[in-house]
Amino acid sequence: MGINNIIRFEHANDPTIENKHHHHKHKQIEDEENLLQKDLLNNNNSSTSSLSSQSTYESSDSYPFQFSRDSSLQDFLKSNKQATDNLKIRNPEILERSGKGQSPHTLWIGCSDSRINECTALGCQPGEIFTLRNIANLISYQDFSSMSALKFAIDVLKVRKIIVCGHTDCGGVWASLSSKKIGDVLDSWLTPIRQIRAQNLNLLKSINDPFERCSKLSELNVLNSINQVKKHSSFVSAFKNGDIEIYGLIYDVKTGYLTELELSDEFDNNDDFNDVFHLNEHGDGYH
Ligand SMILES: [Zn+2]
Repeated sequence: MGINNIIRFEHANDPTIENKHHHHKHKQIEDEENLLQKDLLNNNNSSTSSLSSQSTYESSDSYPFQFSRDSSLQDFLKSNKQATDNLKIRNPEILERSGKGQSPHTLWIGCSDSRINECTALGCQPGEIFTLRNIANLISYQDFSSMSALKFAIDVLKVRKIIVCGHTDCGGVWASLSSKKIGDVLDSWLTPIRQIRAQNLNLLKSINDPFERCSKLSELNVLNSINQVKKHSSFVSAFKNGDIEIYGLIYDVKTGYLTELELSDEFDNNDDFNDVFHLNEHGDGYH
């Protein structure tokens, strides 16, 4: 989720935004009319030129994306058929294997931001990555979704790696750096990031560039989510047996590259920690 999404969200009912959109559309129609007039003045075949200018605008509406806000479900289905047919040519065994079940090697915990997709970022195939994505890649013990995803991925799918991936320009992080209210459930959801901000106030204040400050808070947020994963009973058991590894990454939305974060080993192989979380197989009662 980028800052623009937050701004768009905040100004969803702002009539000036709508006017800008109309203005943009209006400008497009004007441009198209100018092109047609130019063609007519140059004595070109008007039917061909009007078609060519129309197709230019159709592609520029979504360019560089596959679809636009005006795309229909038919456009989606047509593209699905094409993409699937291409996949069958590129990697004919993938769908056959998918039909037999999944055995992903990695759990990816990432942000819902539309600019990051684990398969695009890693260049991998369907069936490789089990995914949990939410706003600002948060792991929360009050959230059934993240708790269930961890339990299922570790205990049932037996993934060997967990990757928590944050990103630059994260809308959830920008919102947590602001003192502005967004709206009931979003403010509640982002509370953990505000807490991290509060714990690192001086460090964050010492960074003058707002984008760098946002990236730093994204990093701290990834480290916090990792610490939450490390407290999950399924993770503790798998980690103790050497069956699982965990990594923190930051995705740069401008470059598309991933960078590894250095993790603290605060909770690793710590018997006191295991005791606190009731994770010894034969607990010796309360103390
Ligand atoms: Zn984000």
